[in-house]
Amino acid sequence: MTLDQVIAANRATRQKHPENLMARHFDEDYFRGLDEPSRQRLTRIIASGIENPDSQMGAYAMNPDDYDKFAPMLDPMIRDFHGLPVETAIAQQHDWDTSSTSCDLGAIDRRLKDVSMRVRVARNLSTFPLPGAMSKEQRVALEDLAAAAFENLREDALFGGRYLSITPGSPHEIDAEEYDRRVGAHQMFKDMSGDSYLNTAGISADWPHGRGMYVSKAEDFLVWVGEEDHLRIMAMQRGGNLNAMFERLRIGLERLQDLLPAFATSPSYGNVTSCPTNLGAGMRASLHMKLPKLTSNGHDLARVKREAKTLGLAVRGAGGEHSDAGQDGLVDISPSARLGVTEMKIMRRLYGGAAALWEMETA
Ligand code: ADP
Ligand code: MG
Repeated sequence: MTLDQVIAANRATRQKHPENLMARHFDEDYFRGLDEPSRQRLTRIIASGIENPDSQMGAYAMNPDDYDKFAPMLDPMIRDFHGLPVETAIAQQHDWDTSSTSCDLGAIDRRLKDVSMRVRVARNLSTFPLPGAMSKEQRVALEDLAAAAFENLREDALFGGRYLSITPGSPHEIDAEEYDRRVGAHQMFKDMSGDSYLNTAGISADWPHGRGMYVSKAEDFLVWVGEEDHLRIMAMQRGGNLNAMFERLRIGLERLQDLLPAFATSPSYGNVTSCPTNLGAGMRASLHMKLPKLTSNGHDLARVKREAKTLGLAVRGAGGEHSDAGQDGLVDISPSARLGVTEMKIMRRLYGGAAALWEMETA
């Protein structure tokens, strides 16, 4: 794409898709002022938002240092998404201490004692480019490194389990049937090769090489390898006790961190991730809740999205991002902000938001 093409495309997108944060914050003078190699790098970072005008964010970092190098373009987008005012410094603090707050959904209503809870953090290793810029060899090398770390967890009393690979010819390879079953169980990630956002960003390239998942025996501690970030580390449980699930992730994350090279972090943005929506804590904590009244039995998400937004929550369909609501209005709700908020704050926001939505649902 030439300089003029990028500029023209973004002008058109800004008119038609005001929600596209990349187009909203695209600064023509800054773009023109970059030297040619930098302009090419930035064009790759924003390609996804140009090719997919309906993007919410419209950019994916290709290397951990992109956030600092291209801050004049990316910082305003990041602040806009996470709700951080321009004049304040961003400080990413961490807090995993569950002892002071009880977040038990069963205390809100007995009917919420058996919801499906999930919390994941996105992490990238500082020793590889981010997934949008990796070669096939690097994807497989990353998977080998992760598989070696999982080998150390295999017999662990708390986190023991299996690594399942979808890389053709891998010693850990699973068949198509098991892969489909794990996707259906909401454990494994979907085939990325059909996702136009990830395709333009290069993140789904070389599919399915270098991709897989670690799963604990109890199937409540999972690690994705080679999706949108190098690693997505998560805890998943049925029940209502968010604290217990958080503790499970905290301890598992610490164990894994000891077995891997350092994660990529930025002084201002905390954990570095492919998508700027995940910077900071890198955490998405979600609940699968049945909200038939608020969603007209799952046929219309407009109202629930509006109500959720005022509570700082995003709504996804029952199959994850870009999917539809499930039976009886089953939706995925999660706090939107991940940067400038601690892990505990994210959990409390989910708890309080779920309580408020439930009150509307049952009123
Ligand atoms: P993320 O981007 O946070 O990793 P996705 O939206 O891509 O998550 O969803 C990944 C998978 O996790 C999907 O199958 C989705 O249905 C599932 N999922 C998300 N939240 C929950 C939850 N609370 N309970 C069960 N499954 C969930
Ligand atoms: Mg996702």
